[in-house]
Amino acid sequence: MIIISDLHLQAGREDITNSLLDLLADRAGKTDKLVILGDLFEVWIGDDDENPLAGRVAAALQTLSQTGVEIMLMHGNRDFLLGPDYAARCGARLIEDPWVFSHQGEAVALLHGDTLCSDDHDYQKFRVMVRDPGWQQAFLAKPLAERQAFARDARRQSRENNRYKSQTIMDVNRDAVIRLMQSFSVTTLIHGHTHRPDVHQVDLGNGISGRRIVLGDWDSQGWLVELSAAGIKLEHFPLLAGDAAG
Ligand code: MN
Repeated sequence: MIIISDLHLQAGREDITNSLLDLLADRAGKTDKLVILGDLFEVWIGDDDENPLAGRVAAALQTLSQTGVEIMLMHGNRDFLLGPDYAARCGARLIEDPWVFSHQGEAVALLHGDTLCSDDHDYQKFRVMVRDPGWQQAFLAKPLAERQAFARDARRQSRENNRYKSQTIMDVNRDAVIRLMQSFSVTTLIHGHTHRPDVHQVDLGNGISGRRIVLGDWDSQGWLVELSAAGIKLEHFPLLAGDAAG
């Protein structure tokens, strides 16, 4: 299984798109599962927003799924409106956040990571609003141009707000991590979102030690977590050039 997160695919970043397509082609037949832990796209305003980037990515994922790789998509805070129609075009299924499973007898939870940033009260309020099914239904019924304008405003607002927030507020809350790991009885937590790739030891009490593996975003390099018989490993690799074939 490989896990990637926070690619923030967008027009004008061909290097990231090409690197993803290269990874997908390379992993065909070599891995059983691919999990994308959210923020695959920088922005997503509805599955009816037909654009060449979404088409290319769906085709590449569909091709990989047809080689027998199971593809799972989790929502991030940018692409939480990605729906079942687009997932079907990708040959993928949408999974819940958190998603808990076992790897070689070890309990693992996967999250995008934004729910762990509980000190960021403004963001958590925004999240409650936009994750509400009624809000989403009303939003998706609006014309594309109106949705595009909302997304632009939301990103500008978030940039302005974050400028005045401390680095601590925007990182995960330590107690939220421990509570989540304890409530799901997991010793490994894997998430993205914060763009702070690292492996942290977590003291879960009662002499139990866990770990929190944080994926990086694909801005200056690519990141993945590989789960194999050899264990669970965080890796990074250089991005391809923007004009490479792909
Ligand atoms: Mn995110």
